[in-house]
Amino acid sequence: MASENTASSPPIEQSATPGPVESRAAKTIREIFESGRPLTYIRSAEEQRVGRVLREVGRGLPGSTPTPVWTWSLTEGMHGDGEAAEAGAQTPRGALDFIVAHAEAGIFHLKDFHEPLRESSEIRRRLRDVYENCRDQRKFIVISSPVRFIPEEVERSMMFLELRPPDLIELVEFLRDEGEQTGEGGDADEEVLFQLARALQGLTLDEARYALRRALVKNQRLGPESLAAVLEEKRLLVNRSGVIEYISGVTDLGDVGGLEGLKKWLIERRKLFQMRDSLTAEIVPKGILIMGIPGCGKSLSVKAIANHFQLPLYRVDMIEIFSGRHGKPEGAFVEACRMMEDMAPAVLWFDEIEMGITSTESGGEQGRIFAFFLTWMQEKTRGLFVAATANRIDLLPAEMIRKGRFDEVFFVDLPLEDEQIQIFKIHLSRRGVDIAAFHLEQLTQFTIGWTGAEIEQCVISAITKARLADRELNEHDLISVAAKLVPLSRTMKEQINHIRGWAFERAVRASPQPIGR
Ligand code: ATP
Repeated sequence: MASENTASSPPIEQSATPGPVESRAAKTIREIFESGRPLTYIRSAEEQRVGRVLREVGRGLPGSTPTPVWTWSLTEGMHGDGEAAEAGAQTPRGALDFIVAHAEAGIFHLKDFHEPLRESSEIRRRLRDVYENCRDQRKFIVISSPVRFIPEEVERSMMFLELRPPDLIELVEFLRDEGEQTGEGGDADEEVLFQLARALQGLTLDEARYALRRALVKNQRLGPESLAAVLEEKRLLVNRSGVIEYISGVTDLGDVGGLEGLKKWLIERRKLFQMRDSLTAEIVPKGILIMGIPGCGKSLSVKAIANHFQLPLYRVDMIEIFSGRHGKPEGAFVEACRMMEDMAPAVLWFDEIEMGITSTESGGEQGRIFAFFLTWMQEKTRGLFVAATANRIDLLPAEMIRKGRFDEVFFVDLPLEDEQIQIFKIHLSRRGVDIAAFHLEQLTQFTIGWTGAEIEQCVISAITKARLADRELNEHDLISVAAKLVPLSRTMKEQINHIRGWAFERAVRASPQPIGR
């Protein structure tokens, strides 16, 4: 069962207020109208949203008063906002005749009009008349339907459009309306509305509504406390895709022992990332590749990056992408990247990236995915910071490492002595052990070549041992466990040397250079 604890919610970037007041969807439609096109087809299952956006467009079109929106459906006929249905405009033919006869500017939203278009040559013919009649008359017809059906006869006269998920501006407006409609707006100020809107980004408006209702059931009113429930609903919806996972939980940079080089880089880059909209593209941080020895904190660092940048974290599961359960891997990968663009700002984590991305020279699906990835890294929205992790670095193609794709390539080595002590401290303190009286330095003679994961394991085993004996943990427990543990680096000496040798020329150490190495 998913946790609804506020502590598990990642912080949401604070710089919230957007500049322009028009939503992305409204801008696209307004531009179509202003280019003089009277016929638009929007594929969307979200009729309510289409209606909202059209009203927003109506308010923004030139004219002393907003352009009114008329709505037609087979069940409710043609009516203006808050008005009764117009006589004689119930049928599809009646609706088109109504538009022709209408002498004033207007936006005519025809719901599910694909059916009449499919079934009747008379309707197809009449639509062509309507097209001629509406040109330059400030009359705009918008067909909305969950399926795409555009008859050949009108294909050239019709603009086809698919709405991407709502952007921040649309979501804030939606939240305001929902708050008013349900009377549960509470004390939600602008800052809270923007935080909630950020949390909802990437969802359709219908999904956002469910997430909001869930939050309201829990807290009865919209406020900062609604954020955890909204994020939880989003986590469930995102995870349903099967390819992208929303990672909850808070990992601070202080939870990562050592890796000072990596931490310094992140602290410096955070400001640049937050200022991304006012900077030239080449200095906005795009992402990093963290490679290295398993169990030394790559995944941990990615979680800390998201927290440090105050962004939600999403993980792309490369193994799922290649499982075939989500269609062709190439399509699933492209879809995942596109979906994430709608979730921005966020940190996107490609775990074990070498599993899916090999050289273009290898051809086939993996080569194509890699080619796409390289271009996408250059063109993706600024609000996405990519964090890729890899163990089998030798599998990664050289182009991946080349400067420009990632801002930096970090190599995470086995922790140095100082770093080991830090990692011991982190894991002991986290488990409530008072380390003031411990001399952790003496432990390091037993822990040469240990990974962070092994240090954590040592702490857990020693605590377990002490608890079984019904007493507090002492240094000897740690030493006796440490003396028996054979670290991975001893059994895998060759592989580790190979990884080190490979990374030496191609990556920056995430930790300081060891003395004498
Ligand atoms: P893998 O490639 O096997 O996933 P990884 O490098 O991503 O390895 P992590 O998952 O980050 O390793 O580390 C495993 C666990 O070991 C972490 O959850 C953490 O508890 C502990 N650990 C590893 N490195 C560190 C570190 N530098 N500081 C604190 N804890 C660490």
